[in-house]
Amino acid sequence: RTKAPLEIEEIAQQIAAGSRLSLAKGITLLESVAIHDKPAGQELLRTLLPKTGNSIRIGITGVPGAGKSTFIEAFGLMLTKAGHKVAVLAVDPSSSITGGSILGDKTRMELLARDPQAFIRPSPTAGTLGGVHRKTRETMLLCEAAGYDVILVETVGVGQSETAVREMTDFFLLLALTGAGDELQGMKKGIMELADGIIVHKADGDNERLAKKTVRDYRQLAHFLQPASPGWTTKALAVSSLKATGLVETWEMIGEFRNVMESSNYWTERRQSQTRSWFYTMINDHLIDSFYEEPGRKQQVTELEKKLLDGQATVAGAVKQLFD
Ligand code: GDP
Repeated sequence: RTKAPLEIEEIAQQIAAGSRLSLAKGITLLESVAIHDKPAGQELLRTLLPKTGNSIRIGITGVPGAGKSTFIEAFGLMLTKAGHKVAVLAVDPSSSITGGSILGDKTRMELLARDPQAFIRPSPTAGTLGGVHRKTRETMLLCEAAGYDVILVETVGVGQSETAVREMTDFFLLLALTGAGDELQGMKKGIMELADGIIVHKADGDNERLAKKTVRDYRQLAHFLQPASPGWTTKALAVSSLKATGLVETWEMIGEFRNVMESSNYWTERRQSQTRSWFYTMINDHLIDSFYEEPGRKQQVTELEKKLLDGQATVAGAVKQLFD
């Protein structure tokens, strides 16, 4: 059933008034793949667009076990206590294949999930990689319209999603562990070059000293890398989420980053260039979708493929036939 314009208006108002229930409903509408929901989701987004943009968007990555959920919970709770509204989103490329999700597990971030000033949304579980990224981006905008001023976007440490999350956030945080020698050697330079901040996590107990040494190593290394953001040298900090140390410093680092970026105007430039590249990505996605959604298309493609392999057609000829 298509949503009437009045209904959309009402959901939009409730979202802007801070209703978590309506926010969840709105996100479900955006995530829906049902044809009749698509215009409704976009209409909702369009209505709320003037209320978006007033947040700091922070991407967080790290290998499984780096302590991402523990950190996000501790960091998020510190921020809500300080009066912020915190939204936690996730981009999990594997979830669209397995149906699982990095935030799907209800036992993760239990305290933060119960905090009325926080909103946690697992990774969309259906659709293509591009679809998952689009939905997360749109969800982020709805959360901003609902008054969330800190958006944390979590992703697991696998290449493609990290780049996508970097492309939708202002600040990119890498959670690393000690064991410097090997890890620094083996650390993918590419990921380090995306990071504005590196946290050496679990800096407590017997690990504390080594963590501090690793921080120094990263600081040195940072000077040899291409900066992730112009005018900013990647910072490294030791953090323990269990002991709640280094969390305030992390927030201060992000604040300092924002000041530097705003004074060089790179803050606005980056957001604009992100929107621009999102636009072109969506054009490509749309072209691909509309090609395959054509009735009988999949069968046509399969048949042509067979002809091709039987030597009855050339690749260029088969492609031409599809577009004629
Ligand atoms: P994720 O897979 O990156 O989300 O990692 P988790 O947050 O699930 O944490 C993995 C393991 O590391 C868990 O057993 C946590 O208890 C532990 N852990 C997380 N943060 C800390 C920390 O600050 N100090 C210590 N010692 N352990 C931690």
